[in-house]
Amino acid sequence: MPKPKYIFVTGGVVSSLGKGIAAASIANLLESRGLRVTLQKLDPYLNVDPGTMSPFQHGEVFVTDDGAETDLDLGHYERFTHAALSKDNNATSGRIYERILAKERRGDYLGKTVQVIPHVTNEIRAQIDKVSTGDVDVVLVEIGGTVGDIESLPFIEAIRQMRHDVGRAGCVFVHVTLVPYIAAAGELKTKPTQHSVKELRALGIQPDILLCRTETDLSRELREKIALFCDVDKRAVIAARDVDTVYQVPVNFAEQGVDDMALELLRLPAEPRRLEPWKRMVEGLRNPEDKVTIGIVGKYVDYEDSYKSLKEALLHGGLPHGLRIKIEWIEAESITRETAARQLGECDGLLVPGGFGIRGIDGMTEAIRYAREKKVPYFGICLGMQTMVIEFMRNVCGIAEAHSTEFAPAAKHRVFFKLRELKGVEDLGGTMRLGAWPCRLEAGSFARRAYGADKISERHRHRYEFNRPEYERTLTAHGMRITGDTPDGAYVEICELPDHPWYLGCQFHPEFKSKPLEPHPLFAAFIGASYEYHRRHFRSVAEQEQKQFLRMR
Ligand code: GLN
Repeated sequence: MPKPKYIFVTGGVVSSLGKGIAAASIANLLESRGLRVTLQKLDPYLNVDPGTMSPFQHGEVFVTDDGAETDLDLGHYERFTHAALSKDNNATSGRIYERILAKERRGDYLGKTVQVIPHVTNEIRAQIDKVSTGDVDVVLVEIGGTVGDIESLPFIEAIRQMRHDVGRAGCVFVHVTLVPYIAAAGELKTKPTQHSVKELRALGIQPDILLCRTETDLSRELREKIALFCDVDKRAVIAARDVDTVYQVPVNFAEQGVDDMALELLRLPAEPRRLEPWKRMVEGLRNPEDKVTIGIVGKYVDYEDSYKSLKEALLHGGLPHGLRIKIEWIEAESITRETAARQLGECDGLLVPGGFGIRGIDGMTEAIRYAREKKVPYFGICLGMQTMVIEFMRNVCGIAEAHSTEFAPAAKHRVFFKLRELKGVEDLGGTMRLGAWPCRLEAGSFARRAYGADKISERHRHRYEFNRPEYERTLTAHGMRITGDTPDGAYVEICELPDHPWYLGCQFHPEFKSKPLEPHPLFAAFIGASYEYHRRHFRSVAEQEQKQFLRMR
């Protein structure tokens, strides 16, 4: 079985240079040339996975089909490529050490001293081996953090060793760096890049390709200077300019031949690039025919990275309709019954996304009530589905104390709870329901129409479930429908209000599976309904103005 080739992506100078987008973009180009790719993120921090990290600090936790809670860069990887990612595609120092310590306790090291080199580096290499299967031609490995960090040293050493083993044509080193513009001098500065490459070389790695993040283009002189001082090919100094949409990055890289160069270095034959559909998609994003305003009522709205995939999925959902999406981020805690109409009146559609903890729950139910009564399209995701059902139970079914045991452990009406809280029902045993679960869809539902299928699979990340045995009858007797559930009927996956233009809550996270070239059906349907609302609303406002005008005459 032929071994895959490697592209290692490191970063220098500062964090947040977009290494993830850079890796995803190169992978995108290779895929467009008929190669099979996979991507892996190695994170130097000590958390075992990002599952326990605050979305405020670390951004969204991305979930794979096999239920791994991973870094949000895996979301970019999936949106830019067709790589099937799993728990093996993301590992942290914490995870690596956890394995080593378990081995040590079992006595697997036979009395040897356990050390960073070779034990940690070997474990890192074993992690890379896990995704180096015969199904892929190229493995792209992104090393988190910045070169020079103490934490990332073992990772850099591991990839250095790999070059020694796989040889020059076996791997390519891509370094993402910064060429800042210093306004006072009116100049772009190459020194930080020189220093960062020097640092990398001190660790035994000579980069092959430099992706220089800049605000403007790089002049020929600057490229030559960087090439000379960093000892890279002139063609390999790439201007990774700021862009209006991240989906432009593969196009910019293609124009500068990043993929050609990588393939040359790896001595990999490939087909010509087929980037047309991608370019058309980017053009579509740039030249919408109209726009809709979507209000996201959530609790981490100050930090957009916490809802990364959601934001992207909304953009994708606008594409089939030729629509730009204007997102209004609304802090759930700020919404009250009195202010809801004023705060939400400009929105053509409302969405309550996933979340944990009680903060903001009342504001969410107020927003949902407003959407239900005013017939504004509503999309509830995970927590947004739970709050949607709770609002309905309280305000329509008359069960004022309806709650989730997450927020009120002693609630009289446990409409959402952990299944094991109900005696006699077998539970999963674990704490979270994670990853892909099958779901069957009811005929004649919004979901069924959107998917055009009666069986689907979607990803989960939550603990609480609808209490079907005790509350299904009340719920459906008042008009809410359960339109999606697991094939065994144990878990409710989708609820809808048929007597509404579009009103759907799902227990899973559809945003994780949306790609720009394959917008998620629920997002596309929600945006379509929101646009319909927008047009009707707009028309009726125009009509009213016209009438008033006529009256005044
Ligand atoms: N907090 C809720 C639960 O655990 C919802 C989780 C989420 O929205 N991802 O079930």
